[in-house]
Amino acid sequence: MERLKMTQRNNIQTGENPDISRPLNFIHQIIEDDNASGKFNKRIHTRFPPEPNGYLHIGHAKSICLNFGTAEKYNGLCNLRFDDTNPIKEEDEYVNSIIEDIKWLGFDWGDRLYFASDYFDKMYEYAVDLIKKGKAYVCDLTAEEIRQTRGSLTEAGQESPYRNRPIEENLDLFERMRKGEFSDGSRTLRAKIDMTSPNLNMRDPVMYRILHASHHRTGDKWCIYPMYDWAHGLEDSIEKITHSICTLEFEDHRPLYDWFLNELGVYHPQQIEFARLNLTYTIMSKRKLLELVQGKYVNGWDDPRMPTISGMRRRGYTPAAIRNFADRIGVAKRESTIDVALLEFSVREDLNKIAPRFMGVMNPLKVVIDNYPENQAEELEAINNPEDESTGIRKIPFSKVIYIEKTDFMEDPPKKFFRLAPGREVRLRYAYFVTCTDVVKNESGEVVELHCTYDPATWGGDSPDGRKVRGTIHWVSAKHAIPAKVHLYDRLFTVPNPSGDKEGCDYKEFINSESLKVLTNCPVEPNLSDAKPGLQFQFERLGYFCIDPDTTNDNLVINRTVTLRDTWAKIANRR
Ligand code: ATP
Ligand code: MG
Repeated sequence: MERLKMTQRNNIQTGENPDISRPLNFIHQIIEDDNASGKFNKRIHTRFPPEPNGYLHIGHAKSICLNFGTAEKYNGLCNLRFDDTNPIKEEDEYVNSIIEDIKWLGFDWGDRLYFASDYFDKMYEYAVDLIKKGKAYVCDLTAEEIRQTRGSLTEAGQESPYRNRPIEENLDLFERMRKGEFSDGSRTLRAKIDMTSPNLNMRDPVMYRILHASHHRTGDKWCIYPMYDWAHGLEDSIEKITHSICTLEFEDHRPLYDWFLNELGVYHPQQIEFARLNLTYTIMSKRKLLELVQGKYVNGWDDPRMPTISGMRRRGYTPAAIRNFADRIGVAKRESTIDVALLEFSVREDLNKIAPRFMGVMNPLKVVIDNYPENQAEELEAINNPEDESTGIRKIPFSKVIYIEKTDFMEDPPKKFFRLAPGREVRLRYAYFVTCTDVVKNESGEVVELHCTYDPATWGGDSPDGRKVRGTIHWVSAKHAIPAKVHLYDRLFTVPNPSGDKEGCDYKEFINSESLKVLTNCPVEPNLSDAKPGLQFQFERLGYFCIDPDTTNDNLVINRTVTLRDTWAKIANRR
């Protein structure tokens, strides 16, 4: 297994122990305790509740793996539920992409695909129940006035002058709110809890707001929309969720979650919070990701540099790699930042097992093998995947003129350079030993062509007389090569924490201007000519790559997924 070299810096978790086996995480411990006490009759039912206002990212993948993975582990169920309570930013495009991404990750919600908007009628009835109990009221303060009278952590809030409206008047006004008699923002429905509560979320929170906006599913049926805190617990309750797993920022909202369900006297799931995933060199805020897309800093949500699931898919990451990564980072109650190198490690580890090998040259240097017959071509045998014998061998053509990597030749090599140099013999992978006999330069002194001789006795890359060479390099036969366009991707940001590295700095200042390098006419072996978009493979000695969906019959487009070497080590050494 590839070694993961990393250093401990700041609060960055390095994942030094890439072993997946570990004790129960705290959520699974809670579940086992609940099963032991019979709290939910040993039933486990979780949900993944995305808001369809953007594409899913690697942070969501953590939550997906946790929710679906927990249900799988305990023979339970996990629902997919779109939390579509905000009509302004939500779109079907996002719904479709989210469905595609979760399926691709390998999870299945059976027939349990739900939308919070399907429960709008039920939520409205529940709100009427609370009004009738004297636990909710229509408030005529504006959003700004509500904020101003909310108080602070050190100061109690002020009660709304509408707080003690008679129940009948509240019922009448709430119905008229629903009917569309009032303008946006002119009134709200608020829970009547406690304006002096030390928890600001409990200071008469808004349950409904007036918003004359079309909803992607309910159209113009509603002009009042439920707020997240009011809606979410009801959604969980209606679906009989047992463990409602969410991120830490909702910890302070749990008393409100519990209050609503207790006051209504309905089925009551257990909310449990865990720390969200933060990754170095990555932003995860949907607002910022949308900004990158709309500002054309990247080429769409599925740009291979994006931390979105669709971007990672296009980049060549595998579902197994992402799931293994999620297992490795585990689940904790404390915020931390994970080194993105751990994700890349998981990608390499999986691709190493499954990716067929090919040869391709990124920066070609022409090599003429002077003693090789002019019109001869032969087929040599290459191993498809040394990690998986069942994938067998393939034939690769060899001829008099080949391309090698420019960086595999040095006219005046330093001591540790074992590749080609004048007078030096190296092995061409799977082919022959060749010796460099001559160097051709252009007017500016740049090496543009090499001449070599080959030893026919070394066919297949082995020398019968036991002669050793120190370097093995990859190559592609010029006559047989197909040209490819290759996208070399690097990290999108230049600093480990682009959202907060410098106070008052915009994360866009840290965009890596060299995060995409495009190479054209890269000679690659002809076996890639009928490769289908999505194919993941290794270019020997270079890294893992995949075929981009933009590929057509006469335009092969290849994305570099990840280099072979642990890039973290290189960066750490430079510091
Ligand atoms: P928004 O700011 O739009 O609410 P969000 O990232 O919370 O963004 P949701 O669609 O509400 O987006 O998230 C769906 C689920 O994914 C939620 O349960 C949320 O807690 C979880 N989630 C979101 N970001 C992360 C993250 N970085 N790590 C782990 N879980 C996450
Ligand atoms: Mg959210």
